[in-house]
Amino acid sequence: MTTEPALVSNFLRTIIDNDLKSGQYQGRQWAPPPSPAAVRLAGAIDPARIRTRFPPEPNGYLHIGHAKSICLNFGLARDYQGICHLRFDDTNPEKEEDEYVRAIIELVQWLGFSWTVDGAEHQYFASDYFETLYQFAESLVQAGHAYVDEQSADQMRATRGTLTEPGTNSPWRDRPMAESLALLRDMRAGKYPDGALALRARIDMGSPNINLRDPVLYRIRHASHHRTGDAWCIYPMYSWAHPVEDALEGITHSICTLEFEDQRPYYDWILERLTELGQLAAPLPRQYEFARLNLSYVVTSKRKLRQLVLEGHVQGWDDPRLPTLAGLRRRGYTPGSIRLFCDRIGVSKADSRIDYSVLEQALRDDLDPVAARAVAVLDPIKLIITNFPADLTEPCSAPVNPHDHDGPRREFPLTRELWIERDDFREDPPKKYFRLFPGNLVRLKYGYVVRCTGFLKNEQGEITEVHCEYLPETRSGTPGADAIKVKGAITWVSAAHAVAAEVRLYDRLFREAHPDRGDQDFLQAINPDSCRTVQGWLEPGIQAEPGHCWQFERLGYFVADRHDSSIERPVINRAITLRDTWI
Ligand code: ATP
Ligand code: MG
Repeated sequence: MTTEPALVSNFLRTIIDNDLKSGQYQGRQWAPPPSPAAVRLAGAIDPARIRTRFPPEPNGYLHIGHAKSICLNFGLARDYQGICHLRFDDTNPEKEEDEYVRAIIELVQWLGFSWTVDGAEHQYFASDYFETLYQFAESLVQAGHAYVDEQSADQMRATRGTLTEPGTNSPWRDRPMAESLALLRDMRAGKYPDGALALRARIDMGSPNINLRDPVLYRIRHASHHRTGDAWCIYPMYSWAHPVEDALEGITHSICTLEFEDQRPYYDWILERLTELGQLAAPLPRQYEFARLNLSYVVTSKRKLRQLVLEGHVQGWDDPRLPTLAGLRRRGYTPGSIRLFCDRIGVSKADSRIDYSVLEQALRDDLDPVAARAVAVLDPIKLIITNFPADLTEPCSAPVNPHDHDGPRREFPLTRELWIERDDFREDPPKKYFRLFPGNLVRLKYGYVVRCTGFLKNEQGEITEVHCEYLPETRSGTPGADAIKVKGAITWVSAAHAVAAEVRLYDRLFREAHPDRGDQDFLQAINPDSCRTVQGWLEPGIQAEPGHCWQFERLGYFVADRHDSSIERPVINRAITLRDTWI
């Protein structure tokens, strides 16, 4: 059974179709590792029809928004016989760590994507291009396209202008090229403190596009980098590094989120200047923008996720209530369900908010055809079949998955004492209540029809035990079993055989659809009942290996917790109820 989506077109596919038709990217060279024009042009013809990339900054954990970008970029590469690179955009020394790199690799692989093609691994680090970026910057200076500015960051901000007013030129803008070059070299050599100088592109301080008002290429940061250590004390700005990274890697379609639309002229400016200087060669990458994923009932900003974790509102980055991929995996989301979700929401240029229920339904649709069924009782009450011999154990069975009716079956014993859900018995039933109440008949699923004969209460008035008698001729699967019609069927487990489990009933972390709307403090919207732990009983024979998932009949989809579960001590998470019960 596969839940891989059928191909649905979108504006990016249309662009790629046209590019492939026009032969724009045909015959271009590729010479690994990613290199400037001179090396690339000596390389062989690129076997990939297109190249895309997923470029996370290793400064946090991936979340469901990243999944959209991963599925898009890796999905396009797969569908067009291209290659998608996993590129760590690690140009910001302070916030990045190896731990994040490892976690990102693990979860992109978990989602089902690979960057190893014909034995070549297309995993790259922007920090590997630091030297090339620096050499390119020198050539921009030499060509008069960049200069070293001595204004402070505050001064630069003050002279940048506004959306309606142009900026003003820096007094250092027209300094001799040789002076800028010498200063740039001194910047690199560590002769200046943080913030003393910056290298800026010389474009146009009067441009209506603020991004073109002499953007900064390099700033001084005496900071250790997680990969390059103390080799550098100047670091490239993201907006300068990103187009170069794309070009060095031979990316054809550089897909990013809409907020980068205004950066596109600068992206092109950099590539065009470096091509004129012979550092890069056509065909150049093109940037395309799509709407980022906004999902209701969650926050996806890394900063807010970090706050939730560090302030202890959740138990860690993989807390099953978080929309991180690690959290979703622990909650019971499958890679297929996330891919299905990303396919269903599609790709467009229009910003929108997707309802969380779309993600939940994708999980149900992915699991329903394949998940093994089992019975669990989460709010147990004893049911005693008073006319069933105490020493009798009667084997019952049910399909592992009812969609595969003739497939494997699971077996479990019926005995005199069972656990049933407290809610399956009512002393005074409401209208249309078809389960157990005094005098009523129900079927014990996969077993017999029973008649409720009584119940016991304790001093507090709580029901402690329900009594019934079974009708021997009604055993499921035997001739005449249905002769007595009943309106309800309830699930049960044999009290003597059931497996005890801790079950964590998760609900949404936020009570509001848009917890970080406007200036609102999103912590105010936290749902105080987002996790309830109960002691339940599971069908005997269940092997609660971490990560194993089931549909517990009538209750929903559940997964054995990746951290805390063991076969001896099952800890089970509820991934999702069977139906959307959120109101
Ligand atoms: P931040 O800006 O908070 O550091 P980010 O979400 O931009 O975080 P990156 O690591 O830069 O994080 O993201 C990697 C890629 O994932 C980028 O190409 C980005 O466009 C994409 N991405 C991030 N969030 C979303 C989202 N909500 N929807 C779609 N794509 C996203
Ligand atoms: Mg980012």
